[in-house]
Formats: sequence, structure tokens, C-alpha cells
Amino acid sequence: MLMMLLDSLFIDFNAYFASAEQHLRPELRGLPVGIAPLYTDATCCIAVSYEARAFGVRTGTMVYEAKKLCPHINIVEARPSLYVKLHHKLVAVVDSCIPVDEVVSIDEMACSLTSRWRDPGKAAAIALEIKQAIARRVGPCMRSSIGIGPNRFLAKTGTNMQKPDGLVIIQEKDLPHCLYGLDLKDITGIGRNMLKRLQTSGIHTVKELCAARKKELHGVWGGIEGDRMYARLRGEFVPCPPTRRSSIGHSHILPPRLRNQSGALAVLHRLLQKAAMRLRHLGYFASCLSAKIKYVGGGRWKDSVNFLETQNTFDLVRGLSLILQRRKPVVDAPLAVSVTLTGLLAAHNTTPPLFDRKKADRQAALFRTVDAINRDYGGRTVYCGSAHRAMHAAPMRIAFTHIPDLKTERD
Ligand SMILES: [Mg+2]
Repeated sequence: MLMMLLDSLFIDFNAYFASAEQHLRPELRGLPVGIAPLYTDATCCIAVSYEARAFGVRTGTMVYEAKKLCPHINIVEARPSLYVKLHHKLVAVVDSCIPVDEVVSIDEMACSLTSRWRDPGKAAAIALEIKQAIARRVGPCMRSSIGIGPNRFLAKTGTNMQKPDGLVIIQEKDLPHCLYGLDLKDITGIGRNMLKRLQTSGIHTVKELCAARKKELHGVWGGIEGDRMYARLRGEFVPCPPTRRSSIGHSHILPPRLRNQSGALAVLHRLLQKAAMRLRHLGYFASCLSAKIKYVGGGRWKDSVNFLETQNTFDLVRGLSLILQRRKPVVDAPLAVSVTLTGLLAAHNTTPPLFDRKKADRQAALFRTVDAINRDYGGRTVYCGSAHRAMHAAPMRIAFTHIPDLKTERD
């Protein structure tokens, strides 16, 4: 068998949102910090600094519980746009050391090791160079765990093996025993459902997972993804299905009766909800929304907003409302509108939970139901209240079906 070379370097920032606040607000450095979400009433920590983790506070701990565990904890409201800005800076710094292949999530990046960097000594050197460059050019708070391995899966797994400020190299000779210290849930691709299925099949530890036959994993995963897991655990190179799409959008030329402000807004909202349904259908999350209005006189308006990756219509509607609110008044009549979602991430690459896990799960279930109803009864059967209001404001009845009572929206 050919010797497996190192192939992948993966960076995962530690307690990203909490570190970001400590970076942005030096008075928080060295102190326990818990980040609470911005856009929800949820009172649950979405990130926790290592100083607070020492008291048992974790991502997902309710704020009141966090205060009990760690009475002097600093609860900070999340500032997503600043974290996104910082993220772009970090990507640029890493990219100046080694080309970034893929931005996997707001706090994760994957790089390929080529030619001489595949040597373990050289790979470790580049990892240290990245850490130093970040400390020097961004700040010492932005610590990361770097994993290096013969495939991206193992490199990413390496980032879970040493935190904070880790550097782990997994070579062929370390496999599979180096993985035995991990819990099954630390393995990328094993979510809560898969964990249950593995347990039902008698696989309770990573050691048992590594010992399982290919056929067995094929059965547990219910298909080729099980074969992929088998190969990844052995350090084989397994190409992922690429993120083919870069945007999802819709545009519409307004019929004469809708060439007014409220008509344009109603259609924008409707297009957004259609795009959101497609986003979920295709299995993506978006982190940027832009909207355009063309006016009869030839004028144009365009604006966009960045946010943490989401596939939740409520988040997207809030984004659209935000940019519409900051639009300057225009006298011309609108002629055409469009909505585009970009910054797409495949669902398996996103990092749950960014917000209150329970609420996120509930809302995901809600939209699965809404999408199913719209598929079965037509795309206009159920939609969000914001579009409803906008449509009520439209002077003429548009060809939208009346909104059914969507109690669940009042979360
Ligand atoms: Mg992280």
C-alpha cells in the first residue's frame, strides 16, 4: 500500500464569538464571557470563553444557569456583523500564509497541503506561522486549533483533539488509535440522529466505529455516506460533493398594477420566501442577502446585508426589512425587483447551534412543514406575516392566496 501523505490543514477558531468580543473589547480579556444571541428572545449562550468554561458553562447553557455557575460571568449580546467582518480579516491573514481552499463556516477554514508542505515538519511550521500571523496582525485573542491529516475529515477531527490553541498532526501511523480518546459526537458527520442509529447498531465508541466493517457502516448510514465514513477514518482521500451553487435568486418585472412602493415590497417578500424555500430544498444555508429595485425612470436601488448563515425565513425576512428600511425615498415608480441569496454553505458544513438550539430545531421543523404544505398545496398556501402585511398594503389584490393562521410564527 502506498504511504499516505499529509493532505489537509484545517483551522477551527476557539470559542469564536467569545474570543471576538475579547478581541474587540480588551476589558473582557481574561474574564469569563458568555455570548447571548441578538435576534431572538432566547436566553442561551451561543459561545462561551474558556474562562467561563472552567466554571462548567457551555454553549447552550441557559443564561440564568450560566450566572449561577459563574456569578461574575459577563453576558454580552452577540454582534454578528462585527464577527463577520473579523472573519473576513482572519481569512485574509490565513490566506497570506497558505491558500484557503474553502471557508467552511464563520470559524473554520480548510487548506490543501501541496508539494513540500506535505512533510510533517513543514506542515507543523506553516501551522505555527498561521497562529503567529493571526496573533500579530489581528490579535492574541483569536486563538485557533489546527489539525493536519491525510484527508480533510481527519484534519478537522484533529482540531477537536486539542483545545484551545491546539496543533495536532494525524499521520497514517497514528491511525486508528489516536482517535480512540474522542466521543462519537466529536466526529464530523455524526449528529444526534446518527449517534442514536450507531448506538442501536451496537457502536458506542470511536474504537468500535473504527473496527466496524464497511458493510456495517453502509447499513447504519443507509448508503454510500457510510462507505465514505469507513474510508475517511482510514485516511483515504474522499472527495466531497462540491458546493456547486453560488447563489439562489429570483427576479420579477412588476405588472402595471404593482408598480408602486407597496406592490414592490410585497413582491420582494414573496420572492424572498420562494428563494428561502429553494435554499432549504437544495440543502444550503445563506449568509448574504441582496435586493434590487429598478425604477421606471431608469434609476436603480441595490443594497445587501450579511448575517450568520441561516436557512430560516424569519432571519431572511428581518434582513430584507433592514435594508428596505435604510432605503432613501424615491419618487419614481418601481419597475422590477429581485432578491439574491449568496454566501451559500452546504448544510453539512454549518456549525450548529449558532442560536438557541431548541428554538432553531423548532423553527427548522416548522419550515419543513411549511415547505411540505406548499409543495402539496401550491407555493402560496403558507407564508410569513411580513409578506402578508406588505400584501395588504398593496392597492390591488395580487394573485396570492390568503394566509392561513400561522400560530407557530409567534414564537
Ligand atoms: Mg470553533
